[in-house]
Amino acid sequence: MTGTLYIVSAPSGAGKTSLVNALVQRLPDVRLSVSHTTRPRRSGEQDGLHYHFVDADTFDRMVREHAFLEHAQVFGNRYGTARGPLLMQLEAGQDVILEIDWQGAQQVRDAMPEAVTIFILPPSRDELERRLRGRGQDSEEVIARRMREAVNEISHYAEYDYLLVNEDFEQALDELMAILQTRRLRFASQRVRLREQLRELLGSL
Ligand code: GDP
Ligand code: ADP
Ligand code: 5GP
Repeated sequence: MTGTLYIVSAPSGAGKTSLVNALVQRLPDVRLSVSHTTRPRRSGEQDGLHYHFVDADTFDRMVREHAFLEHAQVFGNRYGTARGPLLMQLEAGQDVILEIDWQGAQQVRDAMPEAVTIFILPPSRDELERRLRGRGQDSEEVIARRMREAVNEISHYAEYDYLLVNEDFEQALDELMAILQTRRLRFASQRVRLREQLRELLGSL
């Protein structure tokens, strides 16, 4: 059985990283895909854990070698999802989450239409700006740019299967978990997961 691929998009600061990190703590058997980026590392970020931090030449080489399932330019930096490790995880039956922007989501949807896509909205513009500032990781210039580009990202909300609002963190986390849990209860997944149990139940009739 192959794993399910989830795509989570949101304007920067809406809380997607916090939500997805909390989700993988609570739900076993779901992995986060680690993207490649040319963005400078923020304090607290670890190479290979939060991102693979690479220079522009390495990124270009990977594009030429078709190593990316998708790649895009976001806020002046380049981001991409490496194809090989992702496909290996899915083929091993692992569910995987991609935290990528709308451009990347369009490319993955084209390549893998079975992917489940989720868009996270902030409660308001003011709150989005407060969170970007509160995160304390980006310069004023970067925050202004991310706010300007938020409208563009949000304008793609209708392309996603699920929409959720991250107002109350715990509620948004419960909603995100519900999407994954419901998906796992579908017949096609359960039939494989419960093979032994079904055999025992049917055999004893
Ligand atoms: P943050 O998400 O606001 O914490 O900021 P980042 O600098 O980590 O990410 C900026 C944007 O790049 C976000 O919209 C991400 O969804 C997007 N992004 C991150 N990784 C990838 C990727 O591998 N591919 C694409 N297309 N977008 C990505
Ligand atoms: P993103 O990955 O979408 O850019 P982050 O997960 O980094 O967003 O969240 C941006 C900031 O907002 C962080 O400081 C985070 O702690 C905070 N945050 C996330 N969700 C909520 C929420 N529901 N209420 C208040 N603050 C939140
Ligand atoms: P980060 O931005 O580093 O992913 O998140 C910082 C921390 O804040 C994480 O531990 C995340 O779970 C937590 N967090 C973010 N928003 C909220 C919230 O609204 N309520 C609570 N209780 N924790 C939050």
